[in-house]
Amino acid sequence: MTSPTSIVVLGSTNMDLVAYVAKAPARGETVTGREFRTVPGGKGANQAVAAARAGAEVSMIGAVGADEFGLRLRGALDHSGVDTDLLRTVEGPSGTAHIVVDDEGGNAIVVVPGANGTVTSLTHGDEALIDTADALLLQLELPLSVVVEGAGAARERGVRTVLTPAPARSLPPELLNTTDLLVPNEHEATALTGLTDPYEAARALLDVVPQVVVTLGAAGCLYVARDSAEPLTVPAPRVHAVDTTAAGDTFAGVLTVALTEGRPMPEALSWASAAAALSVQHEGASTSMPYRVAIEAALA
Ligand code: ADP
Repeated sequence: MTSPTSIVVLGSTNMDLVAYVAKAPARGETVTGREFRTVPGGKGANQAVAAARAGAEVSMIGAVGADEFGLRLRGALDHSGVDTDLLRTVEGPSGTAHIVVDDEGGNAIVVVPGANGTVTSLTHGDEALIDTADALLLQLELPLSVVVEGAGAARERGVRTVLTPAPARSLPPELLNTTDLLVPNEHEATALTGLTDPYEAARALLDVVPQVVVTLGAAGCLYVARDSAEPLTVPAPRVHAVDTTAAGDTFAGVLTVALTEGRPMPEALSWASAAAALSVQHEGASTSMPYRVAIEAALA
C-alpha cells in the first residue's frame, strides 16, 4: 500500500436542493414535484470527498455559513475523512444550488454562492497548508481572486496545481500561467477556446497550460501535453449510468490522487475513469463516490 499523499482543495461547498419533476416549470408557472432531496455538494467539496475516498490525506479550504446547511456540509466532509480545520464558518447562509431535474434527466440550476463568496483571499494558515501539499485542486466556484492567489501560492512553493475550469468563464493569464494541469469537460474546453472539436480545443489550450485532459462523458477522455507529440485517448468503462452528477469532480479528484502517488499519466487516467464510471452507477453526487478498494477492484 502506497503511503497517502497530501492534497489541498481550495473550493466551494454547496447544499444541493434538488426537486424532481415531470417537466420543469415555465416562467410564472407552478408545477407539483415528485420528490425533494438535500445533498451535500459544491465542486470543491465533491473533489475533496473523491480524493479522500481514493486514499489521499485531503484538507479543504473554503467556507460554510452559520446555518443548518453549514453544519451538514462540514459533517459530510468530516464523514469522508476530509480535514475541515481550515474550512471557515462565516455569518450568513451557506452556498446553495437549486436544482430542478425533469423526467428526461435534463436539469436547470441556480447557484447562490452564500458563504463561498466570502473567501476572497488566503490566510497565513491556508498558505502554510498549501506549502505542505503534494497538489492543490482548484475550480471556479470561489471568487476568482482567491483562486488566482491559491494557484500562485502553490506554484511559488513547487506544489502541483490541477484546475477544473467550471463553471465555464474566461480565465486571466495569471491563473493559466500557474496551472500545471487543466481538466475541462467538452463544453468548458469549447467555452475556453471557441473550438467545438475537443482535440483541437485541447491542442489550443497547450498554448497556455502544459497539460490538458478533456473529459468526454461516456466517451472517456483525451490527454495532450506540450512535451508529448501524441494525444492519448482513454475510453470510459461501459456501464449503466443512472446519475452523472459530479462525474467530472470524481474524475479530477481521483486523477490528482493517482498523479501525486507518482503513477504515470496513462495509469492515472485509468484510475480516474474507473472511479468516475463507478460514481455514475449510483444516485447522488458525493454519496456515490467510490472508496479506494472499489477503484482497485474495478481496475483488477
Ligand atoms: P462533467 O461531469 O464535468 O460534465 P463528463 O461528463 O465529461 O464531465 O464526465 C467526466 C468523466 O466521467 C468522463 O471522462 C468519464 O470518465 C466519466 N463518465 C461520465 N459519464 C459516464 C458514463 N455514462 N459512463 C462511464 N463513465 C462516464
